[in-house]
Amino acid sequence: MSENFSERLEAVEQRIASACENAGREREDITLLAVSKTKPPEAVREAVDCGLRLFGENKVQEAQSKVSMCPTGLEWHLIGHLQSNKAKLAANLFQMIHTVDSLKILQALENHANTTLPVLLQVNIAGEGGKYGMKPEEVAGVIEAANQMSKCEVHGLMVIPPFSPDPEKTRVHFSNLRKLRDQLQEETGTPLPELSMGMSHDLEVAIEEGSTWVRIGTDLFGKR
Ligand SMILES: *Cc1c(COP(=O)(O)O)cnc(C)c1O
Repeated sequence: MSENFSERLEAVEQRIASACENAGREREDITLLAVSKTKPPEAVREAVDCGLRLFGENKVQEAQSKVSMCPTGLEWHLIGHLQSNKAKLAANLFQMIHTVDSLKILQALENHANTTLPVLLQVNIAGEGGKYGMKPEEVAGVIEAANQMSKCEVHGLMVIPPFSPDPEKTRVHFSNLRKLRDQLQEETGTPLPELSMGMSHDLEVAIEEGSTWVRIGTDLFGKR
């Protein structure tokens, strides 16, 4: 991997571009979220200098201190599990929460948000024990509840599939998330344009299966 951020970004962009080409999709339909968790503000600044503006963090407290040390005008997205006692902080720190995994946490965000808060619903699509995420059959009810709220807006779904070193083994989970999204749009009449899926090692497969947000840490910032 290159020592230079702009070269690593270029390599990631080339992978995104060729995945788009293979899938017959437009580059502008996919958003690159730079996952800066565990990395210092200097790393974020380097990314900003290369034109990135959207950053993902998995811990509320780490994000809080980092955001205050980074340039203004960036967007911060939560991509880690959120506990209710941090909902107030999260609702006012992040521009989007990718990991709403229960009605309870959605309600807590609604209670504390001061403006419109876009969220994604995290689904445990593979039914893994002990993993965060709603069951597929729970999602429709949460969307219906969100439709009665004034701050939280559900924009789509998010998944962290079971890890496999072979991205082809992950494809089925990405395609199942897309199918669930299609079915929920029909069932609830709610537009769900966003699918947050794909990380450093499987972004191509995710894009082929309809991802609109790829969350890339290692291949941009290096090993953690
Ligand atoms: C850490 C993390 C990523 C980034 O993973 P990489 O493999 O380093 O690209 C993406 N999504 C979530 C939810 C993460 O926690």
